[in-house]
Amino acid sequence: MSDTTRHIKHNALRPETIAAHTLKSTDEATGAVAPPLYTSSTYARDQSYTPKLRENYVRNGNPTLWQAEQTIAALEQGEEALLFASGMAAITTLLETVPQGGHVAAPDVMYYGTRDWLKRLEAKGRITLTLFDAVKPEALAGAVQKGKTDLLWIETPLNPTWDVIDIAAAAKTAHAAGAILAVDATASAAVTTQPLLLGADIVFHSATKYLNGHSDVLAGALITRKLDQRWQEIGMLRTKIGAPLAPFESWLLIRGLRTLFVRYRQASQNALALARHFEKHPKIERALYPGLASHRGHDIARRQMTDGFGGMLSLLVKGGATDAVRVCTRLKVIVPATSLGGVESLAEHRKTVEGPASPVPDNLIRLSIGIEHVDDLIADIEQALG
Ligand SMILES: *Cc1c(COP(=O)(O)O)cnc(C)c1O
Repeated sequence: MSDTTRHIKHNALRPETIAAHTLKSTDEATGAVAPPLYTSSTYARDQSYTPKLRENYVRNGNPTLWQAEQTIAALEQGEEALLFASGMAAITTLLETVPQGGHVAAPDVMYYGTRDWLKRLEAKGRITLTLFDAVKPEALAGAVQKGKTDLLWIETPLNPTWDVIDIAAAAKTAHAAGAILAVDATASAAVTTQPLLLGADIVFHSATKYLNGHSDVLAGALITRKLDQRWQEIGMLRTKIGAPLAPFESWLLIRGLRTLFVRYRQASQNALALARHFEKHPKIERALYPGLASHRGHDIARRQMTDGFGGMLSLLVKGGATDAVRVCTRLKVIVPATSLGGVESLAEHRKTVEGPASPVPDNLIRLSIGIEHVDDLIADIEQALG
């Protein structure tokens, strides 16, 4: 059993409590209730010439970052978490641990930054790559090659169709082949899904999104189930590349984490109401949301997302790209902007962002639903469609 699991068990604290206090509710040195921000780039050694906490240079980390990491590790029930300067810094560092020529399997529809990076590594001969149809479980199983695949990378729910991949089944497939399973769980926070408990080896979050939740931090997190050689390498790489999250961003992230549960639950509740409202709307071709019984991932989502289906959904408007863009520009409350997981709702025409090579449908609007009053959001989309 991991340290963090023991921590939760021993203290009999529930995850909501751990998040609200970000593990420690007072600073030992001063009694400050709000966690302090340590900006120092270096830390003094003591009389015996040992660092007081851990390494004493900020490229290794800093006390503010460690508090955020320990909180995230506890929420994910992992052994350890590492925070990076961005989600992409975390992903590219993990991919750096794939051996030369190693095989990676990943879904064909997913966060485009990860897909582009995987394709780049493949084009350079650094890895071999199989992209599989995420909607077909047999395609995932077929993409993983026994004794050859090093890493099975999945994302759930998937950007921007919000299709759901069965984490437990993916873990079985990966492990039977001698591969590890890494899960991009950015859209399904630990509030509702804990991939490590379902068999994943590493969880990834763009902490820019729900974990921070206030659209004012760029950050990425990796959380591990075990402290193995690969994990040591990831930690070493983060220091050598110089990619740890900076103190101020760590501090903002701590501030955001404290309200994670209430934010995520409210966003889930709003998104479900909104999806139900627009599902059968005359101007809408289809609503994609894992919480809808009509969604093809709904059965897995019900098992795997135990406390809400998240705030992410997509609406396919009747018509083409111009019609979808027009809806985005007519919105008055929902902000036409990229990113997700903030307290304010955002809408985006995904095809414009991803470019013409993207497999995303022309008429798809991706919505990140926030914590506003849901009636204001529904009315806003109604007037934009009208
Ligand atoms: C935003 C995002 C990323 C990349 O994270 P950054 O923090 O922007 O670098 C990766 N995966 C998903 C699902 C994302 O939404």
